[in-house]
Amino acid sequence: MTETLKCISPIDGRVYAERALMPLEEARAAAARARAAQPAWAARPLAERVDIVRRAVALVGEANDEIVPELAWQMGRPVRYGGEFGGFNERASYMADIAEEALADIRIEDSDTAGRYIRRVPHGVVLVVAPWNYPYMTAINTVAPALIAGNAVMLKHASQTPLVGERIICALRDAGVPDDVAQNIFVSHDTTSALIEAGAFDFVNFTGSVGGGRAIARAAAASFTGLGLELGGKDPGYVMEDADLDAAADGLMDGAMFNSGQCCCGIERIYVAESVYDAFVEKCVAIVSKAKLGNPLEPETTMGPMAQVRFADLVRAQTAEAIAAGAKPLIDPALFPNDCGAYLMPQILIDVDHSMRVMREESFGPVVGIMPVKDDDEAVAMMNDSEYGLTASLWTKDAERAARVGDRIETGTVFMNRCDYLDPALCWTGCKNTGRGAGLSILGYHALTRPKSYHLKKV
Ligand code: NAP
Repeated sequence: MTETLKCISPIDGRVYAERALMPLEEARAAAARARAAQPAWAARPLAERVDIVRRAVALVGEANDEIVPELAWQMGRPVRYGGEFGGFNERASYMADIAEEALADIRIEDSDTAGRYIRRVPHGVVLVVAPWNYPYMTAINTVAPALIAGNAVMLKHASQTPLVGERIICALRDAGVPDDVAQNIFVSHDTTSALIEAGAFDFVNFTGSVGGGRAIARAAAASFTGLGLELGGKDPGYVMEDADLDAAADGLMDGAMFNSGQCCCGIERIYVAESVYDAFVEKCVAIVSKAKLGNPLEPETTMGPMAQVRFADLVRAQTAEAIAAGAKPLIDPALFPNDCGAYLMPQILIDVDHSMRVMREESFGPVVGIMPVKDDDEAVAMMNDSEYGLTASLWTKDAERAARVGDRIETGTVFMNRCDYLDPALCWTGCKNTGRGAGLSILGYHALTRPKSYHLKKV
């Protein structure tokens, strides 16, 4: 019997999309076709591959009016935010812009006696496993540079957002990528692992949970398949005593609550200099109290449902446990009478500490804990007291102090006076349980190619 994947809409629990899962043998054959087609794709001029990817990106943009409500149905983000085309286009375009320089040979010697250089060659077949929370942007981070670098790409998108994989691959094919070079596959976890174990792919980029990352890493160990892992986070903010408090409260509350807190680099805990703690907290409560929780298809809604009821229930449990242990919730539930099921009200907790799960484990939801700290040393110790390291957001007018504090934080990215943003020119990376590898930037191309050395002695 064919197994099916069901996308349950967080809006009302209906089955919004259903797709047949590919049996293992079919998936194996698809990967073999990708392998066979890849060398001809890699042999095309780089400029041609760049143009095709740019065209595909534009095609996704042309479909944006259809995509925006479709995204709301699949994962709950309010339509008022207009989808992801801005970031999708920014990232793909930047990677297209730098391709020639990033993929150029590294020339060591070009003399009468020898030519020595390092060339970047594509891995072959790249599997991209993408999450639902920013389904277009997280996928394109790897899909665009992988194809531009000459790889074939197989995209396994999240079951919550199956239409996204179809749309991206369809646009690539319409733009001129051969069918076998870009494929969307609906496969189970077991099939994914079996393919990786058998060496069906030459590189896997996985974006998702720590548990998923572990399963993929175990499978990859069997075939020495190269891996990029972009996993969870518990990103901190630190508001110093000289910060612009209005900007800090605006920025950090947006970072904590946007997309119902379902951002890999969302702000999940905030440390504030004692002297400005009360004023900062008051501003945050005023901002968050204005959120409009509701149907994401309605234009006034600023906060939609979480993608699944179980995600909302996890945040409810973390919050309730913290309150039972002495935390104080500051957002009045009476403002959010529709809190139910996947629809979760935002919450700010004070009187929290690191014994509470809500300050240690990823919440991936609209809750944030705020603690006072006496100085930079205490702030650094608190920020580093985490199994994760994706981003840290520092708020101050003193860039040198931010850089000094940033040097001491175990993190992938240091932000000053901003948060929750991927700059495609900078490397997207993490440490500790947040993962391994490098996405976007020139280093993203290095991850999606392997170095090959040439030493040509002239006689
Ligand atoms: P998830 O359950 O791990 O799913 C993410 C993707 O991985 C989906 O396509 C999922 O497929 C697939 N997957 C999970 N386990 C798998 C396995 N054993 N074999 C094959 N595929 C597997 O993660 P999520 O909870 O949906 O997504 C949120 C998580 O992603 C959070 O932890 C967040 O921090 C992280 N994230 C990190 C970044 C970053 O840049 N560091 C960016 C975005 C999200 P199915 O949907 O079919 O299960």
